[in-house]
Amino acid sequence: MARFVFITGGVLSSVGKGIMTSSVGKMLQTRGFKVTAIKIDPYVNVDAGTMNPYIHGEVYVTEDGGETDLDLGWYERFLDMDLENDNNITTGQVFQTVIDKERRGDFLGRCVQIVPHVTDEIKRRIQLVAKKSKADIVLTECGGTIGDIEGLPFLEAIRQMRLEEGFENTLYVHVALVPILDVTGEMKTKPLQHSVNELRRIGIQPDIIVARCRQMIDSEALRKIALFGTIPEKAVFCSYNVKSIYQVPLILDEQGMGEQISRRLALPHHEPQWTAWEKFVNAALNPRFSLKIALVGKYAGLVDSYMSMNEALRHSGVACQTEVHIDYIEAEILEQNQNASGILQNYDGLFIPYGFGPRGTEGKMRAIQFAREKDIPFLGICYGFQLAVIEFARNVCGLERANSTEIDPDTPHPVIDLMPEQRGVTTKGATMRLGVHKIIVERGTLAHQLYGSEEIFERHRHRWEVNPQHWAVLGKHGLVFSGRSPDGRRKEILELPDRFFFLASQFHGEFKSRPVTPSPEYLGFVRACLDKKLEKSPSKTRV
Ligand code: GLN
Repeated sequence: MARFVFITGGVLSSVGKGIMTSSVGKMLQTRGFKVTAIKIDPYVNVDAGTMNPYIHGEVYVTEDGGETDLDLGWYERFLDMDLENDNNITTGQVFQTVIDKERRGDFLGRCVQIVPHVTDEIKRRIQLVAKKSKADIVLTECGGTIGDIEGLPFLEAIRQMRLEEGFENTLYVHVALVPILDVTGEMKTKPLQHSVNELRRIGIQPDIIVARCRQMIDSEALRKIALFGTIPEKAVFCSYNVKSIYQVPLILDEQGMGEQISRRLALPHHEPQWTAWEKFVNAALNPRFSLKIALVGKYAGLVDSYMSMNEALRHSGVACQTEVHIDYIEAEILEQNQNASGILQNYDGLFIPYGFGPRGTEGKMRAIQFAREKDIPFLGICYGFQLAVIEFARNVCGLERANSTEIDPDTPHPVIDLMPEQRGVTTKGATMRLGVHKIIVERGTLAHQLYGSEEIFERHRHRWEVNPQHWAVLGKHGLVFSGRSPDGRRKEILELPDRFFFLASQFHGEFKSRPVTPSPEYLGFVRACLDKKLEKSPSKTRV
């Protein structure tokens, strides 16, 4: 039988519940327990797929093609495991199921209500993950902040779970901000106290409280949190600012959080095995080299839009003992500014991420052209791959006004076109080509060298692809497609063999990048950036 840990957040959003959930999972995993993690998103969307990354951050894609909240990415990276679409529960999904049942007549004669029908469906979904995963401990993070209207049915469901599963099989962790006043330097616990009170009003008494604070909370703050939270002082922890996010489980375990959770859940005692994790963290904190990479995108103002990409670049950096500094450049700036090369010339590598729609595409192509002509290491992902094809078609193959039909439906050379199976698709939710697909990698290419295999599996999220009618002309001018779908109908990787490192993929390697096993395409890129930089000025790169 599984045990359940629920993580709630208070005072404000972005308090780090995702990292907390991942860290609790890591503390239990290093003690030898099998864990899984669920993210509850109280919004009415069925999934994150139709949301603007500028508002909500990146859409994280699971192996099975779920378009989920980016917190699933943190769970996967921390726990080094693949989760499923079912690990992300939203109000939209819950209501859709309940309403479908009502229409079928499953509740015939009855009034369908939030309690019990909606709350039962929430519990069913949590139990489903518990059953399928066979985990010893199921972590459930409740998105949003205590006090939000839309979170109430979920909180009610997890409150009921204590009654059903028993005290020793359920644990509530509440994470809340403790601000420090600029003027007096005082740590203020009052907002946290209020959020605990709000939680109790709903019927949930937290077992553990984590104060999220800029620095380690002092004994006075700790005493107050324990007193007003009605928990022993040894159940209060502090998640203070650290240099690397991967330190969080270590600093919490050091304070005794892993032991406290284990005791409270009556788990058999196991010594945590931190060696591998510590090794990674130490490497992350002690780089020998540094790199500056330009990421040119249309969501450059919000780092969360590129979360998995940032992390994949960092994982690769750690593997190369290198600190990777990313500058986010708004693609449109390169369109307005005549001196695009002035903006781009001081970077060790150029990275073009995913994207949708026409905004900023010309700017991204300018950047790609610059990288290609100046031979700066280049990695393009998804839209970055498609735009690299367009740039090459225009500027090398001489196909004037070549474009994607996504950007210019009337282009004379649609080198990127809608996939045939997308043509009849009219609805937007979960209808892209999604999730993991097999890719055949051409022997003797850079891609083959990076992946060390002729068969790889990577995750996707797109509607457009390289138009087969233009494969020949692109190839004739030197563009090598080094990866393809097994049936040969779809191009997946491109490279320019005469460049130092010029590679792009239709798939998203970042979704499978893990701290100690970085994505091969990202690792290849970062290593190339470093090699090229060392070649140019070997003495200047040490940090
Ligand atoms: N807009 C492109 C497509 O749908 C690329 C998508 C992406 O970058 N994820 O094919």
